[in-house]
Amino acid sequence: MFCPCCGVPHISKVNNNAAVADFVCNNCGSIFELKTKQGRIGNKINDGSYDTMIERICSHTNPDLFVMRYSTNYCITDLTIIPKFFFVPKIIEKRKPLAPTAKRAGWIGCNILYSNIPKQGKIDIIKNSSVKPVGEIVEKYSIIKKLQTMDLESRSWLLDILSCVNNIPTNEFTLKDIYKYVDVLQQIHINNNNVEAKIRQQLQFLRDKGFIEFLERGHYKKII
Ligand SMILES: [Zn+2]
Repeated sequence: MFCPCCGVPHISKVNNNAAVADFVCNNCGSIFELKTKQGRIGNKINDGSYDTMIERICSHTNPDLFVMRYSTNYCITDLTIIPKFFFVPKIIEKRKPLAPTAKRAGWIGCNILYSNIPKQGKIDIIKNSSVKPVGEIVEKYSIIKKLQTMDLESRSWLLDILSCVNNIPTNEFTLKDIYKYVDVLQQIHINNNNVEAKIRQQLQFLRDKGFIEFLERGHYKKII
C-alpha cells in the first residue's frame, strides 16, 4: 500500500501490539488504523474502547483511518481513507457496557458513525474493485488537508457547517438556505450565542480554502 498522504510506494506494518496504529509511513510519519469488514460498511463501524477513542481524537496522535471492504472470496472491493482531522467526539457513539457475565464485564466499546462523516472526508482508494490512480488520491488528500485544524471546537464547527452545505440539495445556495440549520446547530453548540455569525465565519473559511465560492452577497456555490 502506498502512502495516501505523501505518495511513497510503501507504508509499513506497525509490529507493536500496544500501538494505536496498524501502519506507518516512514517518509512523512503519518500513521494509519485499518478497519475491515466483509460486505456492506453500513452506517456504523465497530471500534475499540470508547474512552481510548475519545482520548485519541483529543490528542495529536490520532491515526488516519483506512476502511476496507472485502468480498466472500477475500478480494478487496473498496478501500477508503478518512483523514484524522475529520474525527470529532460527536461521531463516536458509546456502546452499552458488556454484561456482568462477559469476560470483560463493564467494558465500553464504541462505534464510528461513518455516515455522519462529511463526504469530503472519505477519499476512495478502491471503489467497486477498481483502484484509483495514486496521484489523484494524494492530490485529493492535500486539498482536504487544508481543512485541518487542531482545535476540536473549531473542527467540530467546520464539519457541522460542511455537513449542512452538503445537505443542501442544490449546487448554489443562499445564506437563507443554510440558516435553516440554525436550530439544529444551536442544539449541538449550546454555549454559542450567535450561531448565524458562526455560520458566516465558517463559510468564509470554506471559501478561503477553496471549497465554496461567493457569487454575490449571500449567494454561494459549492466547489468541492
Ligand atoms: Zn507518507
